[in-house]
Amino acid sequence: MTIPDPHTMADWLATDRAHVWHPYSALGADLPVYPVRSAHGVRICLADGRELIDGMASWWCAIHGYNHPVLNAAIASQLQDMAHVMFGGLTHRPAVELAGLLVELTPEPLQAVFFADSGSVAVEVAMKMALQYWQARGRSGKQRFITPRGGYHGDTLGAMSVCDPVTGMHGLFAGVLPKQLFVDTPGCAFGSLCTDGHMASLAAALEEHAHEAAALILEPIVQGAGGMRFYSPEYLRRARELCDRHEVLLIADEIATGFGRTGRLFACEHAAISPDILCLGKSLTGGYLTLAATLTTREIADTIRAVPPGVFMHGPTFMGNPLACAVALASVRLLLESPWQQRVQALESGLRSGLQACASFPHVSDVRVLGAIGVVELQEPVDMKIVPPLFVERGVWVRPFGRLVYLMPPYVIGTEDLATLTSVVTEVVGMQGKM
Ligand SMILES: *Cc1c(COP(=O)(O)O)cnc(C)c1O
Repeated sequence: MTIPDPHTMADWLATDRAHVWHPYSALGADLPVYPVRSAHGVRICLADGRELIDGMASWWCAIHGYNHPVLNAAIASQLQDMAHVMFGGLTHRPAVELAGLLVELTPEPLQAVFFADSGSVAVEVAMKMALQYWQARGRSGKQRFITPRGGYHGDTLGAMSVCDPVTGMHGLFAGVLPKQLFVDTPGCAFGSLCTDGHMASLAAALEEHAHEAAALILEPIVQGAGGMRFYSPEYLRRARELCDRHEVLLIADEIATGFGRTGRLFACEHAAISPDILCLGKSLTGGYLTLAATLTTREIADTIRAVPPGVFMHGPTFMGNPLACAVALASVRLLLESPWQQRVQALESGLRSGLQACASFPHVSDVRVLGAIGVVELQEPVDMKIVPPLFVERGVWVRPFGRLVYLMPPYVIGTEDLATLTSVVTEVVGMQGKM
């Protein structure tokens, strides 16, 4: 192991502080950032030699853990051929094989794949597909999007416009964000009954606004960064029916839920529905490189093609990047060849038993687990100056947001490491009650 020179490290940390923005941060903020030297398996190794058990899978992505030999080999091998070529007028095996595999794994009607470079862009692409589709059908009045409150779809302007208006801070950008149509958060929890009452807000919005609505966009089953809520598959099934009845497209944003996180390969499978447009990202590359994909039906692709301009108007510079496609192909195959269902089931029961004790704390309002996602919801937001260091001191990497302390580890985590994660979360959450 190389010991970093403390002097140069102090220098570059000062540069980080002075010049580098981190996600949702202020430049020069007095919050800890930890220098990482390397990561392997489910361990993140800090520059000072400490090793942390990873409870975050780097924001849902690193499902196979870090520095995986199969994924490393996929990148190394692709690098011998080319790191990148433009996708306009050129094509290559990694993109074509990955597209074929995604078409094969997702519901049958989804036949067309658009590669984007991040989840937010995949959402922009999905929204533009819906808009161009209705325009091509001569229904150009259909330009708005219906979406449940509590959602998260990314940080670009279009994607932001369909995020929860409060946690998505719409007030900051009110003048430029398109005004979308918000309906109630799905109120029926996963495993509980979904009644007409739970559907009323969505049903009313569709009734009233279908003539001006291009699509309903939602995160199936799990609302992720907007609040980590799990809702009934019956809501999703009925939402699909309502969309059909009112001629509104359904966009399923599976950027967080895709590739097994909820116990099914895709969360839409819980309700046995197929969306008209599907967004994938995050764990698509096993957390190696940024890549996302937007899939749609042949009918939508053909309709866009049939009417001038006859093309779908989007084309990122790094579209279909060969390195990213090659590692995505390897990651998806690795997942399919692994006993991922058993692993996610084991994670679910480990999270359930390990986090159970938190439910009895008076300052905890809810503990919920679905698949490889475990959530402890507190009554008050956690102090981000105090709480992250408590986790690091105890040898785990857990990054809460707002009132939520949650775990979504790599699927390959062992029983002991998982038990350490849940017991440290229980201890640190317990300390919050006394602060
Ligand atoms: C993370 C996320 C996005 C945005 O993806 P980025 O790659 O961060 O742009 C969109 N939708 C959902 C559901 C997400 O979890």
